[in-house]
Amino acid sequence: MMNLIFLGAPGAGKGSQAVKIAQKYNLAHLSTGDILRNEVDKKTELGIIAKQYMDKGELLPDDIIIKMVENKIKEVKGFNGFIFDGFPRTIKQAEDFDKMLDSIKIRIDSVILLDVSKEILIERLSKRAVLENRKDDSDISIIENRIVQYLQKTAPLIDYYKKQNKLIKINGIGLIDDIFIAITNIIDKKI
Ligand code: ADP
Repeated sequence: MMNLIFLGAPGAGKGSQAVKIAQKYNLAHLSTGDILRNEVDKKTELGIIAKQYMDKGELLPDDIIIKMVENKIKEVKGFNGFIFDGFPRTIKQAEDFDKMLDSIKIRIDSVILLDVSKEILIERLSKRAVLENRKDDSDISIIENRIVQYLQKTAPLIDYYKKQNKLIKINGIGLIDDIFIAITNIIDKKI
């Protein structure tokens, strides 16, 4: 069993790397952003609420996200562990998550922080807007808001997981395959 959290600003490359790492180690890739986009597409009750936040680049309320993640964890079977991508995103989510993990006897092994400068983040997100047609990538002020949200609410998790001795910082600038190899080198040393 191996459970990882991928941490990093929007555009840091968490999603791309998480997909590849999940495949290599047979982990369930649990991306809160993907789950929410799917709910939005299906126009579910959750999706209709989520859209209002996502389109503005705001975070959803913690209790909604926590409940959603807990349900997903229970659904998933047949994997060697999880990659949590885009979750937790606030200190409150991380604290509630720790309690939840305790009660279901799951342990986070490492938190992989993908480190990318703000200039490169903005450049990547603007490009992604054209490629993926994501509303939250289409407007520079929404992109900037997501980065502000990250710096204010999510970046404090870096210290949170440092204190738990779980943080591993990886340079997120470079070729996707080189960054992938850097992450697998770290994981292979641990297992
Ligand atoms: P990003 O590229 O910004 O990291 P994601 O695909 O992870 O994008 O998430 C897209 C949007 O979904 C976020 O801007 C936010 O509105 C919502 N979201 C995703 N995960 C969470 C979370 N853990 N807590 C609150 N909101 C979230």
